[in-house]
Amino acid sequence: MNRILVKTVLENLNPGSTATVGGWVRTCRVSKGGFAFITINDGSCLAALQIVADATLANYEGEIVKLSAGCSVLVTGEVVESQGKGQRVELKAGELRVLGWADPADYPIQPKHHTMEFLRTQAHLRARTNTFGAVARVRNAVSAAIHEFFQSRGFIYLHTPIITASDCEGAGQLFRVSTLPAGQEPKDQAGAIDWSQDFFARKAYLTVSGQLEAETYACALGNVYTFGPTFRAENSNTPRHLAEFWMVEPEMAFCDLQGDARVAEEFLKYVFSAVLTRCPDDMQFFNERVDKTVLATMEHVLGNDFVRLSYTEAVDRLVKSGKTWNYPIQWGLDLQTEHERYITEEVFGKPVIISDYPASIKAFYMRMNDDQKTVAAMDVLVPRIGEIIGGSQREDRLDVLNERMRAMNLEPDSYWWYCDLRRYGSVPHAGFGLGLERVVQFITGMANIRDVIPYPRTPRSAEF
Ligand code: ATP
Ligand code: MN
Repeated sequence: MNRILVKTVLENLNPGSTATVGGWVRTCRVSKGGFAFITINDGSCLAALQIVADATLANYEGEIVKLSAGCSVLVTGEVVESQGKGQRVELKAGELRVLGWADPADYPIQPKHHTMEFLRTQAHLRARTNTFGAVARVRNAVSAAIHEFFQSRGFIYLHTPIITASDCEGAGQLFRVSTLPAGQEPKDQAGAIDWSQDFFARKAYLTVSGQLEAETYACALGNVYTFGPTFRAENSNTPRHLAEFWMVEPEMAFCDLQGDARVAEEFLKYVFSAVLTRCPDDMQFFNERVDKTVLATMEHVLGNDFVRLSYTEAVDRLVKSGKTWNYPIQWGLDLQTEHERYITEEVFGKPVIISDYPASIKAFYMRMNDDQKTVAAMDVLVPRIGEIIGGSQREDRLDVLNERMRAMNLEPDSYWWYCDLRRYGSVPHAGFGLGLERVVQFITGMANIRDVIPYPRTPRSAEF
């Protein structure tokens, strides 16, 4: 089946050329004069290609007039100038083979408005809609741009383990990986589960971040990045949290927090402009149908510097705002999404990089500042989403690191290899984590994170 893409036909072929295309029927209209007008989409672009089939085709009465949404077809014909508005060319069918029927009585994706909630129940078919096709293409363009950005700067793409024995944050939120029979786990003498008899002879988990391992490679190869699935068993039923999401984590040796923030800003801008260049039709679609502000937001973000603000200044502004907050705000408390959105949306109207958070609310590996109260951490906040990136300069002094771990009830011995980096040739280094889905949400304006990943995993839901 030597087919070419609908995108190629629409963009590159001139009237007179012959083409074979395959796709799924979106609409079929049969006119009295012995013509059928069929639109098909093959996912290569947002637009559907119009096919005109006439009664001289052998299967016209038997098959073609019975086509409906969802049927798959393979069509060979001549590219002709389009009479109708909206497209340059259409295809005059010389042969139309029906490959698979889709009974209109039960095909779920009818050509009408479906709610996002309904489409989540049809996640195996929702990619055939305009919205989910466009999301998939934008997600692909974002992923490619991520690799391009780092590759063009000499970063090494690093595969960190998915199964790990270390909890990067030192907090809960871990999915356990075990092959012990549920309910019949072997017990030790004290009656507790004997994990030494488990598959890895210890407790193991799905990773929450590849950062600690990425640091080890950065301290050998200089600049590295990971890009892979990440798991958090946090019970957050929000439009911005998934239990399984994709994270990009660059880690840079000989880099401090300022350098880290600079890379984060350049990186986001690179990704945004790549999507605008490569997916103009999809972006137009999102701007018209999903969120009328996404294109203006992108242009605005690209044309302005990100604001730099310390946590202390941010809290000051929040306290003095005179607003009433659902969550309390004072120095020492973490910023909630409502606070983050106020700062980035109402105070500045552009992305803001907040730095130097209280040590008490941040992870053990973040570098202690000279004030002994704050750490060299940064969050990048964007309008509508809030936090899109979290990063820090890492603690590179062994004694300070040991002290922080003990203060946070972590056992330095179980991080012996991580401590070794500070023992042997320690260097200042920094990095950040970017949630892929939050970027896709920000770019497309999609309201719910469940609709920017093919098969969302959230509390109480792992369908498909
Ligand atoms: P939040 O406060 O929004 O829960 P976090 O502080 O837990 O985020 P980090 O641990 O710093 O996030 O993770 C780095 C990045 O990964 C975040 O900036 C965000 O883009 C993304 N991220 C974190 N948790 C999730 C999640 N549950 N689902 C999707 N993306 C996430
Ligand atoms: Mn979180």
